[in-house]
Amino acid sequence: MQHLSRRHFLLAVGATGSATLLKGCAITPPSPDALSPKAQALTLSSLTAPETTVVKLGYIAIAESAPLIIAREKGFFARHGMTDVAVSKQASWGAARDNIEIGSAGGGIDGGQWQMPMPQLISEGLITKGNRKIPMLSMAQLSTQGNGIAIASQHAGKGFGLDVSGAAEYVREMKASGKPFKAAYTFPRVNQDFWIRYWLGAGGIDPSKDIDLIAIPAAQTVASMRTGSMDGFSTGDPWPSRILRDRRKYGFLAVLTAQIWPSHPEEYFAMREDWVRKNPKAAKAILKGIMEAQMWCDDPKNRAEMAAILAQRKYFNVPSDLLIGPYTGEYILGAERKTVKDEKLAIRYWKDARGSVSYPYQSHDLWFLTESVRWGFLPQGALGEADRIINAVSGEKFWREAAQELGIASADIPPSTSRGIEKFFDGAEFDPEKPQAYLDSLKIKTMKA
Ligand code: CA
Repeated sequence: MQHLSRRHFLLAVGATGSATLLKGCAITPPSPDALSPKAQALTLSSLTAPETTVVKLGYIAIAESAPLIIAREKGFFARHGMTDVAVSKQASWGAARDNIEIGSAGGGIDGGQWQMPMPQLISEGLITKGNRKIPMLSMAQLSTQGNGIAIASQHAGKGFGLDVSGAAEYVREMKASGKPFKAAYTFPRVNQDFWIRYWLGAGGIDPSKDIDLIAIPAAQTVASMRTGSMDGFSTGDPWPSRILRDRRKYGFLAVLTAQIWPSHPEEYFAMREDWVRKNPKAAKAILKGIMEAQMWCDDPKNRAEMAAILAQRKYFNVPSDLLIGPYTGEYILGAERKTVKDEKLAIRYWKDARGSVSYPYQSHDLWFLTESVRWGFLPQGALGEADRIINAVSGEKFWREAAQELGIASADIPPSTSRGIEKFFDGAEFDPEKPQAYLDSLKIKTMKA
């Protein structure tokens, strides 16, 4: 990647934060000192009082982390006895992985926000130092949708839309010319890598052969796209919006993950299993706090306050109006920069068109493992081990118990660990009963024996 001076980088990032760019801001968020009251503390019983009040949870400064930050800020953790929850900003996904390896006792974290299938890969020792296995429990999904793929403006008019097949020849010509299309994600072999691969593959572009895929920390992406060292970027809000809003117009939003796979699984809450086994009531208290925060986040009347909280320097450090659009489904899409507003495209934390967002479906864990096999990240034999890997990491029982203790309506508690058949924009279907049939149906793949 091209070297950028510190000043250069600050200029690029700083410009996006400039108040002069905030045209059309319809909602004036309240100041952080004019927020609604915090949640009331509950009277705890011997069944619900946590074994400890202290825990350290990692988060990445993107919209997926909102339930953790809101649970901390609005008193939803404290309400269930978790009065000393630290939410700790992680510099990168690699840093989060390193911090879970050492745990809070070693100055790291006990759990937090993860792309998928990081909890499974960490548990299996596939992305840890010395391949050490750190068993984890994945206990809730944090959010759905709210991710997208931005493309550098120099490629406008070349066919980068939802159906990217029109860009296939152009992309292959770039490769033949010796300057391949460079697409970036923030960590390899997890969500953002899968979204861009799925999208390109559906359009007949082989992400393993026709382009270069590179990892870039989120904080460097705005500058990388501006300087031309990156042609495409797959990430979560508010980063695509930051690229979009920059008046120099060096990038556009080609596609939203909500279009690729409506109500798709996104990021998850998972903790070290040893912490949960030692503190099961505390783990459920944390889950209850997250669930209440997810409901709070989905309530339209809380949006302006949520944006004001998340926008703070200590959290996302962005203009709060950048955070409103993704919650109302308002995006500026395509090289033509057309404003679309469709609630179906919005980020959701608690409920979506398919039912529960928060519940961690094992059928989604299976999709991530199947897609890992599709791209050769895991050997084909991993499919035969998928049940074992998924069961070892699934904390869905904790979710169910926490939901029952919270008094969640039974209609909002999924009856099965499977959400059933999943449908993608290109007509592909994933039947969790037949992952091999899904793999067989896909033309573009990079499977390894
Ligand atoms: Ca994401």
